[in-house]
Amino acid sequence: MNEYDTELVRAILLEAGYFFVDDDLQADIIMLNTCSVRENAHRKVYGHIHDMRHRRQGKPVLIGILGCMATGLRKELIDNKHLALDFVVGPDSYKRLPQILQNLHDTDATGYDVTLSEFETYADVYPTRTAGVNAWVAVMRGCNNFCSFCIVPFTRGRERSRSVDSILDEVRRLAGEGFKQVTLLGQNVNSYAHDGHDFAFLVDQVSRVDGVDRIRFTSPHPKDFPESLIKVLAQNPKVCKQVHLPLQAGNDRVLSVMNRNYTQADFKGLVDKLRKACPAMALSTDVIVGFPTETDAEFEDTVRVMEAVRFDTAFMFKYSVRPNTEASRKMTDDVPENVKTRRIVRINTLQTGISLEKNKALVGQVQPVLIESMEKEKGGSIYGRNDANKIVLLTPVPDMILKIGDTVNVRITKGTPHQLKGEVVNASL
Ligand code: SF4
Repeated sequence: MNEYDTELVRAILLEAGYFFVDDDLQADIIMLNTCSVRENAHRKVYGHIHDMRHRRQGKPVLIGILGCMATGLRKELIDNKHLALDFVVGPDSYKRLPQILQNLHDTDATGYDVTLSEFETYADVYPTRTAGVNAWVAVMRGCNNFCSFCIVPFTRGRERSRSVDSILDEVRRLAGEGFKQVTLLGQNVNSYAHDGHDFAFLVDQVSRVDGVDRIRFTSPHPKDFPESLIKVLAQNPKVCKQVHLPLQAGNDRVLSVMNRNYTQADFKGLVDKLRKACPAMALSTDVIVGFPTETDAEFEDTVRVMEAVRFDTAFMFKYSVRPNTEASRKMTDDVPENVKTRRIVRINTLQTGISLEKNKALVGQVQPVLIESMEKEKGGSIYGRNDANKIVLLTPVPDMILKIGDTVNVRITKGTPHQLKGEVVNASL
């Protein structure tokens, strides 16, 4: 979502007559688009700002913070005299950036707008993207779920969705520019709702746009996954057979204090439905270990769910406090660090083994791969992704002309825990 927002900001400022340079030493204005989800993100941002000022050796510059950190840490950012920020602008105020920068130029006053909107979707801004095969398209913004560990509802506000027509207009334009894949984005993408239309309807409509070969979406909430969405996932050939389904924890009491609104049985039931509708469905997930009050026995439930579901990949984290979340206000971070470490090592080892087994089982299969990179001549790799979103390093057949954006048939020759290798067996499908 932050990458997409950066593309929005580029479009808004280009329209206002600004232009972008590649080297921050050449810039008159520097904006850092920030995230609050990762631990210690603010320290990295502060360090980056000090480093930039040091390298500029007094050359004048305006520095501002955009994104979630702007809303989440508004007072700290404004009051921090060492940072000496010139402007702080939250995710719903990017259209005001030209005015804020003009005011800074005219009056030298700090620019500040972290207002959250119930309506802003930027549907009328066409993001300035860099060329590639995938284009992000935000279909909704904000979140109403208030998971107790998460800051997003406080930094990005309540859910609101764009109209189907505005999304289709954007996707048609993307297809015309040569993007082969669109990834529909939202903090809780499957709670998309506009004018009586739900997310399954939207995905089906997007799939009717000529020129777009693949459709992905992220991230859905397990509690909002109706049969209609499972059907379009399983039956529509343009919709990739891959879902990122955040588990977070496998124990019902822990899920309840996380405010996730599903149980272990609900989650496993949804996985069963997805696999019944489409046995090849690839699943990835997020897991937090050591959430406040999580016991060893409760953690074992997470292990059991991971063993039973056998995700293709998992993003695993030790719990750490995010300021201003419900968990930070009401709970003590009481699971000792060494216990969190023991738990994360356990599920890391488990998941690595499962990912390896799953990827090895693909050896010998021929799969379509969408080529994303052709950096071979620079010492890099030719690679693409299969339908399941797994990276496949490609060995091309000599004399076969390949290019970014081609979909080619690839025989998988090797599976490792994190990627596949394969030989191209025939070019452009
Ligand atoms: S669904 Fe939960 S984890 Fe996801 S953005 Fe909303 S509050 Fe955060």
